[in-house]
Amino acid sequence: MKKEYIIVANWKMNKTIDESEIFVNNFNNLLLEIPTSKVIFCPPFLTLFYMNELLKDSPYGLGAQNLHWEESGAYTGEISAAMLTSSGISHVIIGHSERRQLFGETDKTVNMKVQKALSSGLTPIMCIGETLEDRKNNKTLTVLEYQLNNGLENVAAGDLGKIIFAYEPIWAIGTGERAEPEQIDEAHRTIRNVVESIGVEENISILYGGSVKSININELLNINEVNGFLIGGASLDVEEFVSIIHQTEKHIKKDN
Ligand code: PEP
Repeated sequence: MKKEYIIVANWKMNKTIDESEIFVNNFNNLLLEIPTSKVIFCPPFLTLFYMNELLKDSPYGLGAQNLHWEESGAYTGEISAAMLTSSGISHVIIGHSERRQLFGETDKTVNMKVQKALSSGLTPIMCIGETLEDRKNNKTLTVLEYQLNNGLENVAAGDLGKIIFAYEPIWAIGTGERAEPEQIDEAHRTIRNVVESIGVEENISILYGGSVKSININELLNINEVNGFLIGGASLDVEEFVSIIHQTEKHIKKDN
């Protein structure tokens, strides 16, 4: 069966509106053909709205980097699911390790956000991953299980297949040190098993994130368990990002 990849660009707090426009123009010029992979851009909130205009009539998806679990109200600085869906946004990153570590996100808030996204018709991109200390203490798989069991509490089995999972070892994010293929394979299998044991019936998509670059993408593409990538730093450089997409497309063609 033809493998389909999902490639998510997490721009974090980078790029102004002008810089985004330059990026999109260069992206369209550099791409050799429309990719079969699903490419999703997750720019900052303010740019998201403008990117929606820039990418109108394109096959690319748009995602937010966060949302609030309440419908509306006195939550200064927050964005609701309805604001996203009414602006044409389809995806939302939830539980990124930077939000967990720097902004107090917990498995409980991740859980409320995942439920809100699902009930609003948004596709959650749910991030989980271990710290370096967890890995050194052989706790990686236990941590992943814990994050999944708590982050997915009360999510209906029928909704689990609508979630995109992202395995992001925290020690590999923005460090230039990506995880080894065996580590990724083991983590992705664990995620698949835990989600299956909760009750999902269809195949779930699990992305790998953590220092994905054009120089290591080929090795990552050879890991069967990987359904795509969540890319931070390398998605900010248009040539680098397009190279990752081109190599992914080449890999797909080679396999078919
Ligand atoms: C990320 O932001 O989720 C990420 C994986 O960043 P980087 O690719 O820069 O490691």
